[in-house]
Amino acid sequence: MIKGLITDIQRASIHDGYGIRTTIFFKGCPLSCPWCHNPECISFEKEILHYPEKCIGCGKCSEGCFAGAKVVCGKEYTPDELLCEILLDKDYYGENGGVTFSGGEPLAQKDFLKEIIRLCKNSDIGCAVETSLIYYDEDIFKNLDFIMADLKIWDGELHKKYLGTDNYNIKEHFKMLDKLNIPIILRTPVIPRINQEIDKISEFSGTLKNVVAYELLPYHSLGTAKAKALCKPITEFEIPSKEYMKELSKYAYIR
Ligand code: SF4
Ligand code: SF4
Repeated sequence: MIKGLITDIQRASIHDGYGIRTTIFFKGCPLSCPWCHNPECISFEKEILHYPEKCIGCGKCSEGCFAGAKVVCGKEYTPDELLCEILLDKDYYGENGGVTFSGGEPLAQKDFLKEIIRLCKNSDIGCAVETSLIYYDEDIFKNLDFIMADLKIWDGELHKKYLGTDNYNIKEHFKMLDKLNIPIILRTPVIPRINQEIDKISEFSGTLKNVVAYELLPYHSLGTAKAKALCKPITEFEIPSKEYMKELSKYAYIR
């Protein structure tokens, strides 16, 4: 039986696409952006988040920590089990809400993703993904209501320096995706002094006829606390000022 590894199920989400949504966070991502706000979603293995300040010294670690000082991250679900979780929220979706599969990179668990999308569609639940577009899978994309996809850095060399791979394939995947006639929300995290060529990404997005919006997401440092709890190295970046975001806002748009 195929299973998916999930880190979290966020209910009544209003920031992951249209309407009221349930956001499912898949565990595992082939990229490892140093500014990732979900560092617990990068490894494909279960992990433990450590919060030593919550430890009450009960000595019962082998039974599981009830004080929240050691939190297991990652839970396996069968597609049916995950559908049961999603169905709990169905009444709140209204006309344009539904489920957003996020992460991590949901397409990295593509067989599980395909199956849960199939079950959702059978239950008349709309689906979307948040993806880095490092993978392209037409069978998945064509069953979605819309797709939120990132182009994080325009320059290929710079992309390779920070994300470990150049972005040629990602740009090609955007062009292929555009032919499917599914609404695309293209997004860029804004990290001052790292991805300076927002104008070029905006221009590129304008050449894709199905991009319905180009969004700029200001970097925030909320991921650093989780990285610390995972004992991962922490890199802090400059948080963009309101003035800088205002200056860049001329490149963002809704069609
Ligand atoms: S692509 Fe997304 S989930 Fe993967 S490392 Fe980058 S920010 Fe994190
Ligand atoms: S179970 Fe939790 S609170 Fe108790 S000793 Fe272990 S880590 Fe600390």
